[in-house]
Amino acid sequence: MEASNFIQDFIVEDLENKRYSGVHTRFPPEPNGYLHIGHAKSICINFGTALKFNGICNLRFDDTNPAKEDVEYVDSIKEDVKWLGFDWEEREFFASDYYDLCYEFAEQLILAGKAYVCHLKGDEVSEHRGTLTSPGKNSPWRDRPPQESLELFRKMRNGEIEEGEAFLRAKISMANPNMNMRDPAIYRIKKTSHHRTGNKWVIYPMYDYAHPIGDWVEGITHSICTLEFEAHRPLYEWVLNEIGPNPKMPARLPRQIEFARLNLTYTVMSKRLLRELVENNQVLGWDDPRMPTISGLRRRGYTPSSLREFAERIGVAKTDSIVDIQLLYFCIREELNKNAQRAMVVLDPVKVVITNWEEGKEDVFEVLNNPENPEQGSRKLSFGKELYIERDDFMENPPKKYFRLFPGAEVRLKDAYYITCKEVIKKENGDIAELRCVYDPKSRGGETPDMRKVKGTLHWVCSNAAVDVEVRLFEHLFTLENPAAIPEGKSYMDYVDKNSLVVKQAKAEPMLANAKPYDRFQFLRQGYFCADAKDSAPQKPVFNRIVGLKDSWGKISSQT
Ligand code: ATP
Ligand code: MG
Repeated sequence: MEASNFIQDFIVEDLENKRYSGVHTRFPPEPNGYLHIGHAKSICINFGTALKFNGICNLRFDDTNPAKEDVEYVDSIKEDVKWLGFDWEEREFFASDYYDLCYEFAEQLILAGKAYVCHLKGDEVSEHRGTLTSPGKNSPWRDRPPQESLELFRKMRNGEIEEGEAFLRAKISMANPNMNMRDPAIYRIKKTSHHRTGNKWVIYPMYDYAHPIGDWVEGITHSICTLEFEAHRPLYEWVLNEIGPNPKMPARLPRQIEFARLNLTYTVMSKRLLRELVENNQVLGWDDPRMPTISGLRRRGYTPSSLREFAERIGVAKTDSIVDIQLLYFCIREELNKNAQRAMVVLDPVKVVITNWEEGKEDVFEVLNNPENPEQGSRKLSFGKELYIERDDFMENPPKKYFRLFPGAEVRLKDAYYITCKEVIKKENGDIAELRCVYDPKSRGGETPDMRKVKGTLHWVCSNAAVDVEVRLFEHLFTLENPAAIPEGKSYMDYVDKNSLVVKQAKAEPMLANAKPYDRFQFLRQGYFCADAKDSAPQKPVFNRIVGLKDSWGKISSQT
């Protein structure tokens, strides 16, 4: 098997050395919010790597913190993983499935003199921990007899000790240069009911203790996680080595491998911060199309394949970096350029009247649905005396090199005729009421008999046939390019763009009235759009702009 990144290199090595006979990974989200695009990367790596080696991947909810977790999040996570195209089959687990096991192993560690009950309070604990350059101090309870710790630990479990009065810690070394190894906590008292175990437990294991046990009992071979866990790997291995081997558990211990997490320009990526945006009503919800959540990206119109392609292109690395969000845009654009049906929609309409067009006459043209793929067929467009064009495709006093419409100028209407502007009719307030134009009947098809050059090509819709649609345009929700570069004294909330959603009442060609949720289109010269799954109603579609077109209008005009 050919490895295509360093994680796969390790796996190939492990398989060749017969350390493992197959590959078994897991994706371990904490159900304290909706998944974001960083998780999508992790999902693609965990499930994708397993698939590559004919292995399997579990879904395991890390529900070790009862206070923050919720069933709503569990359900949304399952939906998102499935939508991305991955299948955990029947292997859906929860860290809480192993609470009994974790407890049993904790007693075993205590009896072996490898863990003790400590009564230091929060700030005393920090004080005893020492610093990166100086060793810590032993807890006064570090050398209490195992039997005493065991009795206290049982009291903790029975609810006889209050929160903060005691906790269980591993007995490793207070002088270890790795701070994570300075007698870390492995159990704490929390008198909070849990979304799955109810009130059965008042003590809960710490992630660093429960995670290796969960991996081990599930037979995970490669426990792939993000770089911040690199310094926790010695603890991961300590837990496994001190508990194992154990007849109840798989013979092979899992191996932890770290990769760099995804950071994206103009994007905050932490469930906690995203939850704040939702709770402070800065966005319409977790699935707001501006959110970097998988549900937001889905609603915006991203496809699972475009996100998988993105994950593939960013690859996996061992050092942190920040990915340009343009790469994400590129992935969906590439895909939709190939397969999205084209349509004409005028976002900010201004009326055009063709004065030399016969009153009541309507032409119907057959136009290609997708010039990139003629197999997508064609549709009919009607053309009449009154049309709409985009307000900013007209200028009364244009600068040089303005190739769109202005008084006296001639432009091509996409798939239709050439028109020349003869007169501008204004309202009392000075706004444009309509543009009076003439058309050249011989110009249809883009070729004129005298081969005169017409540089500008505009999209348009026929006013009789047009349907009203709502279109939503988005800016980055977060205005700072590098989310890690928030200046001192500022919070990321200061960089939330309050004007990042712009709603337009647009005029669209008629077939768009039948758009169904998640139908995707290229609106000519405007970008790629997706029918909103929540707010679209039959005959009243709402469209989200997924991305703009890379080259705004120059490129399009040369395509026509
Ligand atoms: P957050 O605070 O954003 O929720 P987290 O790491 O606490 O991040 P978890 O639910 O614990 O979120 O993560 C589940 C898995 O997804 C973990 O293996 C984690 O390392 C991985 N993950 C989280 N964020 C990213 C990211 N930005 N890029 C890649 N993987 C990520
Ligand atoms: Mg977390």
